[in-house]
Amino acid sequence: MRVGCPKEIKNHEYRVGLTPESVRELVVSGHEVWIETGAGEGIGATDMDYQTCGAVIQPDAKTVFDNCEMIVKVKEPQAVERAMLREGQILYTYLHLAPDPEQTRELVESGVTAIAYETVTGPNGQLPLLKPMSQVAGRMSIQAGATALEKAHGGRGVLLGGVPGVLPGRVMVIGGGVVGFNAAQMAVGLGADVTILDRDPEVLEKLGIHFESRAKTRFSNRANIEQMLCEAELVIGAVLIPGAAAPKLVTREMLKCMKPGAVLVDVAIDQGGCFETSKPTTHADPTYVVDDVVHYCVANMPGAVARTSTYALNNVTLPHALRIAELGWKEAMRRNEHLAAGLNVHAGRVTYEAVADELGYDH
Ligand code: NAD
Repeated sequence: MRVGCPKEIKNHEYRVGLTPESVRELVVSGHEVWIETGAGEGIGATDMDYQTCGAVIQPDAKTVFDNCEMIVKVKEPQAVERAMLREGQILYTYLHLAPDPEQTRELVESGVTAIAYETVTGPNGQLPLLKPMSQVAGRMSIQAGATALEKAHGGRGVLLGGVPGVLPGRVMVIGGGVVGFNAAQMAVGLGADVTILDRDPEVLEKLGIHFESRAKTRFSNRANIEQMLCEAELVIGAVLIPGAAAPKLVTREMLKCMKPGAVLVDVAIDQGGCFETSKPTTHADPTYVVDDVVHYCVANMPGAVARTSTYALNNVTLPHALRIAELGWKEAMRRNEHLAAGLNVHAGRVTYEAVADELGYDH
């Protein structure tokens, strides 16, 4: 199969659909890979790196879209990209169609077969193609919080790990799923005093077994959150209620008890945020202050570490890409129900039930 990878064109998107190493895997398996010139710039991969791995470099996106049977990307296709898609072509990327009727309509009209990373499933009902981005965001949240705690960034002037003779900073992680677990790992690694709150007893048990005495766990309820907020230097918002907006677990009123210069990092901002005072920010201007509390609410945290994020994403997307290239999407999906769950649009129809229901399509 001829597989194509254009340069991402969404504002401030530096990731790329295929790394040079992924190209090599595809080429060794007998496929042809066309890469748009400069596609890997954002991750520090040159055209020469791709060529060395067997890619054919093309001068523009149109050549790639017009001539490849499968397009591998990161972000949903933008309007100019959607106009280049055609019937019978496979699009393999993040789509997030439910809140995007315009994109959905244009994909349907194009006749393309669109496979969405975010709905491909894993053995335990997990979403394995979303997981690496949560891992990245969780780990980054501590890095971002530690920086915001510095005086020059408006913070309290606390070093999370402390030093001999000075107590470490207190980190409170609300939500102990993928983001929360990874945040706690980083905070523990720095030597901070870490407590993770969740309301799922099984999650709390797993965290307890993993971290033993290196992090505390606590049931998430209003009283516990209120009490811990007053003591924390850094609070990470990492809750998720699947399919729903994030619950507002910290109200503006509750900020009054917090230490001046304490930091809130709301990773759940992409679901509306779990602090009442959160509003989305960008990497260019990531923080703002409300009632002496620094807020960091960047909605696409993994974009800042495009290289790590691209490699983490390729680790989970490439195995399916190889199977699709080898077998064709129909046979690959017949043999793998988890990949089949990724099919969102095919031949002029919305094939993913939740998206069809949300946007009023038959399926
Ligand atoms: P997850 O499903 O793995 O974990 C969510 C956890 O929240 C679960 O353990 C659940 O029990 C817990 N929870 C639910 N309600 C709670 C409550 N009231 N109190 C305490 N815990 C509660 O989800 P995840 O992958 O860790 O993602 C967390 C959030 O981070 C999501 O909103 C996700 O979209 C977001 N995210 C943001 C970025 C970003 O760049 N900002 C990147 C990746 C993920």
